[in-house]
Amino acid sequence: MSSSENISDERIAAMLARESDMFIQRNTRSRQLAEESRLHLLNGVPMFWMIDWETSFPLFIEKAVGVDLVDADGNSYIDFCLGDTGAMFGHSPRPVAEALRRQARLGLTTMMPSPDAPVVGRLLTERFHLPFWQIAATASDANRSVLRWCRAVTGRKNILVFNGCYHGAVDETFVSRAADGTSLRDPGLVGEPRDLTAFTKVVEFNDVDALEAALAPEDVACVLAEPVMTNCGMVLPAEGFHDALRRITRKTGTLLIMDETHCMSSGPGGYSGTFGLEPDAIVLGKPIAGGVPAAAYGFSALIAGRISAFLAARPSGHSGIGTTLSGSALQLAMMRLVLETYLTSRTFEPLLTLAERLETGLSRIIRKHKAPWHVVRVGARVEFMCTPIPPRNGRDALAAIHRPIDRAVHHYLLNRGIVITPFHNMMLVCPATRRSHVDALVAGVEGCLGELRAA
Ligand code: PMP
Repeated sequence: MSSSENISDERIAAMLARESDMFIQRNTRSRQLAEESRLHLLNGVPMFWMIDWETSFPLFIEKAVGVDLVDADGNSYIDFCLGDTGAMFGHSPRPVAEALRRQARLGLTTMMPSPDAPVVGRLLTERFHLPFWQIAATASDANRSVLRWCRAVTGRKNILVFNGCYHGAVDETFVSRAADGTSLRDPGLVGEPRDLTAFTKVVEFNDVDALEAALAPEDVACVLAEPVMTNCGMVLPAEGFHDALRRITRKTGTLLIMDETHCMSSGPGGYSGTFGLEPDAIVLGKPIAGGVPAAAYGFSALIAGRISAFLAARPSGHSGIGTTLSGSALQLAMMRLVLETYLTSRTFEPLLTLAERLETGLSRIIRKHKAPWHVVRVGARVEFMCTPIPPRNGRDALAAIHRPIDRAVHHYLLNRGIVITPFHNMMLVCPATRRSHVDALVAGVEGCLGELRAA
């Protein structure tokens, strides 16, 4: 028997072997494209982590519309990965395609603001309740910039993150906490020579005492957090945790940044808006421009005032903040469209109902098959985790990730026309998702579970 109790290791291995063969047979054209790509693309992919799907070779997708993917071999899929949130409102829905076409005729980037700029600023403020915003190219960029601003205005060098976090390609966040409480840099981090543990404190999510102790010396510029941890499976905040986090950060003069890049799935104002959090800064990324690379970060009036005062006294020279294509006419047009059309209660209401259907359906089959798993949901985002007890922190969540089960389940679903997010088991619904799609996913997971369960 495996660590996952009544799921048998032998069955997992047998399923994976059979499904891997089936994957190879179904996808001859993708296989050929993968071979061609290896000639001139590093690792055979345009982006390094595209090999992390753990299939024998990546699927090459010819078309993505709504929730429908078609691969190079003509196989169709219902997509619950949605570009790991980049396509949270569906792939190229008509309003997005039309806005793209419209803006293409008006120019894409000029190094000057377009008339959409004040509208985007106002809509971001209305939705996310912070008064001053900047645009970046990616959530990683936005996080890097916010960290700089926080350090600049507090004059403090250190930051604090939660163990098991992911905030994009932001060097100083790749630090974890060992069981004995020491900080470790991520061993997989490429080409970073600095001692990152010198500037980054790490505590476990939901550990108020550790947080209090880490911030007590008043040498931390900011806490960078997701409101719900979503990159190590999912870890929900314990009752009262966000209140404690806000109270302790305020008491110690530490700024609080909520990275809503994934938790935007909660509702039109993100998790912070839905649950009334009061961060000093918010980061939005991935779906904010409908799939066009863009991100935004906002500050409270107080921080914005401190930034203005800092800028007034700043000597000339490169700031280290901002990239050439940030704040472009294209980004602004697409963000305006997304804010007006998709970040609304009208869009979210049906998404939440569908995601609840998925949550309920998966919970039902987990109970029926007595699997030691559970389901967790943050708005339109659902995850099943291969542990019976919801993890309280990143350490427990990472320990619960069961790679062989994930690989077997992902292959099984792919071969039956269903895509969920790799690395863990995240499933997102979008405006193009239908009840029949959700029911097909639940049936797919049930087929898998029925087979994996020991006799
Ligand atoms: N923040 C969070 C919470 C994320 O999950 C990610 C990516 N998964 C990022 C930031 C970085 O986004 P990007 O790769 O688009 O820069």
